[in-house]
Amino acid sequence: MILFIHRKDLRTYDLPAFDLIQAAGDRSLHVLILEPFLLRNGRHLEHSGINFLTHVARLQEEYAREGKLLHILYGEPEVIVGKLSQIHPIDLVITHNDYTPYALKRDRLLSDTAAGLGIRFLSCQDSMLCDHNDFMEWSGRNEPFKVFTPFYRRWRSFLAERFRPPYTARLQQLDTASLDAEAVAEFRLPEEITRQLSQLTLSARSMSPGLILDDFLQTELQYYQVARDKYAQQGTSMISRHLNTGAISVRTIYSRLTEDGRSGEDWLRQLGWRDFYLYQARVDPDFFSYEKVYDLSALSTDHFAAWSSGNTGIPVIDAAMRQLNETGWMPNRLRMITAMFLTKNLGCPFIYGERYFRLKLKDYDNVLNRGGWLWSSSLGYDASPYFRVMNPVTQSQTHDPDGSYIRAWLPELSGLSDKEIHLPRPEAIVDLKRSRALAIETYKEILRGT
Ligand code: FAD
Repeated sequence: MILFIHRKDLRTYDLPAFDLIQAAGDRSLHVLILEPFLLRNGRHLEHSGINFLTHVARLQEEYAREGKLLHILYGEPEVIVGKLSQIHPIDLVITHNDYTPYALKRDRLLSDTAAGLGIRFLSCQDSMLCDHNDFMEWSGRNEPFKVFTPFYRRWRSFLAERFRPPYTARLQQLDTASLDAEAVAEFRLPEEITRQLSQLTLSARSMSPGLILDDFLQTELQYYQVARDKYAQQGTSMISRHLNTGAISVRTIYSRLTEDGRSGEDWLRQLGWRDFYLYQARVDPDFFSYEKVYDLSALSTDHFAAWSSGNTGIPVIDAAMRQLNETGWMPNRLRMITAMFLTKNLGCPFIYGERYFRLKLKDYDNVLNRGGWLWSSSLGYDASPYFRVMNPVTQSQTHDPDGSYIRAWLPELSGLSDKEIHLPRPEAIVDLKRSRALAIETYKEILRGT
């Protein structure tokens, strides 16, 4: 019998694991394990946790619609596998892999536990568009790509030659079994989460990643290059919150993008950045430990509080943080501007912002979020140079000339003219020019040692 553990793959089609289960022709048990560590700091009540749990509720409904059972359990995966294997004749555990230090440690533990019980453990690639191992072998490089453009060129050629179309096995075709009731009871969810999942079912039903994608491809894609940075209107796909939970796969996205001969090069390039960060997480041994480079802890924590609550006195920063806090969304350009402002003008270590986004972003992803913060703070492969400090005022004037984004999120400023609305308020917590000069000096010094 096979035990399949769902993770960031909250869907029932185009799953590598389903193809493997079908090929094995064995019965399968399907579980999703909510790990206490991943729900720490009240994350289930924040936008990122709510988004994840909404997708869990949706997945449970999808299973039910197919007449199948998905068991949602709470606990440590290796303990759960140990217990289930005492009751069910499990000889193979399958899951899709993840590359954070936490995930790698967890999977080593899981794999060791399984091996001790005589169970095989298989973790397969699902998150990248270019399968990492195939790409590494095909590109024939011993040294990793450290710059995006050459990576992207090879990545495009790889896709043209070797794109692996979506997997075809369907949940309905699998011979699924249900778990022993006693085991389910032992690992049942905390009451609060069970209640939350049932409350989320309604909004989960109205979510349709496939429709969001098709709608974007048919109507918005053609304007993407111009519209993506005009953040007062929504000019991007907003597919990330579904892609990062795996509610839609990146293979399906690429297939739909390229069918009918569409190219969508500008948009595809962004998916290229996504793979570039996932690639870095695999090949750069420092990717998850760059914070060791920083020693900015002496600078003000009041600044961080003002930034996170949208009270810095710099209108575009405050508007963006308020949008994030209220809705869990912030457009890409504003993520870059607010991140650079925090790490450079305010001199805060990037992990402060990274942790804050972890809770607040609906589309939070552990690798992409870190990638974005590293880029903004001039660390990691192909990051923005240390002397680049985006000026929030000129960014705002360029991308939102009439200030309508600021007016929408800071109604108290709506009476200001198009010219005044972008300018720092009298109560601004930093002087942009002076803090920029200090940031460049500080970063030069810090990065000299790396
Ligand atoms: P679109 O513009 O429609 O792009 C399509 C897809 O391409 C996105 O869904 C995403 O998968 C990928 N993509 C787009 N821009 C980028 C980028 N700059 N880097 C990597 N991949 C990209 N993205 C997340 O998904 N989760 C995060 O937690 C996250 N944190 C970020 C933190 C910071 C500080 C920064 C600067 C960026 C972060 N990003 C993150 C990247 C980017 O902002 C989002 O992917 C994008 O805004 C999602 O909107 P969309 O789906 O409409 O994108």
